[in-house]
Amino acid sequence: MNTSKSQELFERAQSSIPGGVNSPVRAFRSVGGTPIFIKKAKGAYLYDVDGNRYIDYIASWGPMILGHAWEPVVKAIQEYAVWSTSYGAPTELEIEMAELIRAMTPGVDMVRMVSSGTEACMSAIRLARGFTGRNKIIKFEGHYHGHADPFLVKAGSGVATFNIQTVPGVTPGVSQDTLTAAYNDLPGVQQLLTAYPGAIAAIIVEPVAGNMGCILPEPGFLEGLRALCDREGIVFILDEVMTGFRLAPGGAQQRLGVNADLVTYGKVIGGGMPVGAFGGKKAIMQHIAPLGNVYQAGTLSGNPIAMIAGYTTLKFLQDNPSVYKELEDKTSYLRDGLDRVFKAWGQPYVINSLGSMISVHFSDHPVRDFSSASGASNGLFKLFFHSMLRRGIYLPPSAFESWFLNNALTIADLDATIKAAEESLEELEA
Ligand SMILES: *Cc1c(COP(=O)(O)O)cnc(C)c1O
Repeated sequence: MNTSKSQELFERAQSSIPGGVNSPVRAFRSVGGTPIFIKKAKGAYLYDVDGNRYIDYIASWGPMILGHAWEPVVKAIQEYAVWSTSYGAPTELEIEMAELIRAMTPGVDMVRMVSSGTEACMSAIRLARGFTGRNKIIKFEGHYHGHADPFLVKAGSGVATFNIQTVPGVTPGVSQDTLTAAYNDLPGVQQLLTAYPGAIAAIIVEPVAGNMGCILPEPGFLEGLRALCDREGIVFILDEVMTGFRLAPGGAQQRLGVNADLVTYGKVIGGGMPVGAFGGKKAIMQHIAPLGNVYQAGTLSGNPIAMIAGYTTLKFLQDNPSVYKELEDKTSYLRDGLDRVFKAWGQPYVINSLGSMISVHFSDHPVRDFSSASGASNGLFKLFFHSMLRRGIYLPPSAFESWFLNNALTIADLDATIKAAEESLEELEA
């Protein structure tokens, strides 16, 4: 596979963009080699600047759940763009978007749109603090809630990928208000509540962890957190930036039957445009400005082009819930195929999946939290990643990221992926 143009572009990018990329994991640092520069995409396929085609398992890290350049979204953007791309004044589209989100997701009485998942999580924490009058939050090791200061303590995604222990620039004052526990460790959370009585404003959790590979909540874990929050007057925040509108029309809340006080969204909600949102119970949401004094704002929040892309995607998902069954069947098919070839390979591995999220860990023990995810072999993942890439399969360039299926994938694509995995594993042996 010739990737000379990507290599040239990467070299050129280094002098004007830090590390050559606008988001760290894209740089391929943990897997080595040169990032592929994308020219365009259609359906399940990415096309790079050298003309190579890849079957895409990133889906822009989630948003492209219906595949790339999905016609209704492309058309809607074209139609709305000619009326101006931003007003900074309210539109009916924003009400329609809010009403649609309310209709699709359980327990969301009110919702505020922002422009990224980071903003959504950052604002939800501020709101929880303003509402409770408490300062501390609890998050989980290896969970990622965007790059706002309070979340960069034992974070997942790129922070874990690059093994960054403390992030320079985040003050100790901020970090001391972020307490961490291990995912799936309810007693650990209980200990924090005992150690800091009356001080915890919020518990924020990825209901299904996706920023240290895909890791499922164990039975009773989320329910246990819900009960602790109820007992202690803590705001329970589900970070559904990854799982929202992906695991079900109502996200993990619907899929797993848990109820949050506040929920954050991103990724799928924007249909590929920069969108995030946070919402939840009216009693809490009414503390946001201009109703209350918890200030939060955004020049491009509710941007009409972003709203129409998101609305078109969500509306289709609401009207066609069979998409979720199709995605899940495809994921099971892929999982079964990978299971078969990994078993034949004979070395230890773990495949975790739920809905259309899946990941492979080269691990000899179950992967249930950050320490078990970190114990897996990154060396093998690296080799596997590149073998797959050479065969035209584009996996996330880090073992600490979930793979995302999109519904444009065909059974032939999945078969090609399984075959590529079989050949890649043979290569690992050699
Ligand atoms: C991606 C992600 C975020 C951050 O969203 P951005 O749009 O990248 O700011 C927050 N939480 C989770 C769970 C995510 O996966």
